[in-house]
Amino acid sequence: MALVNEHFLELPGSYLFSDIAKKVNTFKVTHPKQDIIRLGIGDVTQPLPKASIEAMHKAVEEMTRKETFRGYGPEQGYDFLIEAIIKNDYAPRGIYFSTSEVFVSDGAKSDTGNIGDILGQDNSVGMTDPVYPVYIDSNVMGGRAGTLDAGTGRWSNITYLPCTSENDFTPAIPQKRVDIVYLCYPNNPTGTTLSKAELKKWVDYALENDTLILYDAAYEAYIQEKEVPHSIYEIKGAKKCAIEFRSFSKTAGFTGVRCGYTVVPKELTATTLKGERVQLNKLWNRRQCTKFNGTSYITQRAAEAIYSAEGKEQVKETISYYMTNAKIMKEGLEATGLKVYGGVNAPYLWVKTPNGTGSWRFFEQMLYEANVVGTPGVGFGPSGEGYIRLTAFGDRDDCVEAMRRIKNWL
Ligand code: PLP
Repeated sequence: MALVNEHFLELPGSYLFSDIAKKVNTFKVTHPKQDIIRLGIGDVTQPLPKASIEAMHKAVEEMTRKETFRGYGPEQGYDFLIEAIIKNDYAPRGIYFSTSEVFVSDGAKSDTGNIGDILGQDNSVGMTDPVYPVYIDSNVMGGRAGTLDAGTGRWSNITYLPCTSENDFTPAIPQKRVDIVYLCYPNNPTGTTLSKAELKKWVDYALENDTLILYDAAYEAYIQEKEVPHSIYEIKGAKKCAIEFRSFSKTAGFTGVRCGYTVVPKELTATTLKGERVQLNKLWNRRQCTKFNGTSYITQRAAEAIYSAEGKEQVKETISYYMTNAKIMKEGLEATGLKVYGGVNAPYLWVKTPNGTGSWRFFEQMLYEANVVGTPGVGFGPSGEGYIRLTAFGDRDDCVEAMRRIKNWL
């Protein structure tokens, strides 16, 4: 008899986006003539940078000839990409890594979800709330979350760090010590960032308390304001306490191509039950070599191309397109009297629902009365109640039209 991992059974039945899809489908069936604008799911809409497309064509050509064909690559990624990452994403900020500290992958979802493989089940975990659901669900699967309180929507063994307008979306250092803490900046879903001073508080806390920070910087490329940190390693001491996750998905339209990377510094250690310090870099390398067979050569060449002069220019243009959407949306929503957060250094707008309306209620009202789809904030955690997330990844005309509809509706 095969026994299942019963922690999977603890997960609530359905996933946020399938609940939304069901509600949208019901609306479409009952209102076949109405066209809806989707500003809900965080997928990109603009094509890949030309430089990446050309690099992929070239890589495909290489695959057609025996002399240049590539089979299995290094599980950690090709040096040409790792070197480009170090040279372009870190060195200009005065941060230096060896090639064996960067692990190329098929994206940040896999890495943030899989990192628990190398961490003990008994770790206490802290998370900002609202949060990217992968962090919670993967900890439930790994047996670290405890039990779900259906009333509060909270897991008993997770320390929640509420981020709401009341604390300006700045998580307070927890009263109770945690072994691991997830931070995501720029933040999904709130679109907010942490200042260097705030981030330093977390690094100092982690160093003092021997806490591991799992830092998700998937939206780093959207930072517009000079003083906002792009990497946790901009803070002194972070190499001793943090893993950083990055993704090409939102940076360069790779959501369907799949590529990201994770930095695990050699200085970073955690302990065994006996108190022996172990390099997490070694464990992650072992995990990847055993369970991952590398990102495709063609994909890695496409990722490398975003660091070329043309690639950089093309990426900048696309990000500027989305951030102009964000600006149009923020101004449009604010003109209706709504309170809007984010959208300055991130492609997400976090909108306070008016008059204390619940997230799901506001979602339905906006769908039925303005024919615009958002994502109910409460779907990202209890502190998301009373908010709705809109994304700036849509088409410009759709964003403008959605703002017109919301203005007429409210
Ligand atoms: N991390 C955050 C915070 C995200 O919002 C997302 C995607 O929406 C990811 C990671 C996943 O990125 P990837 O496409 O690289 O798996």
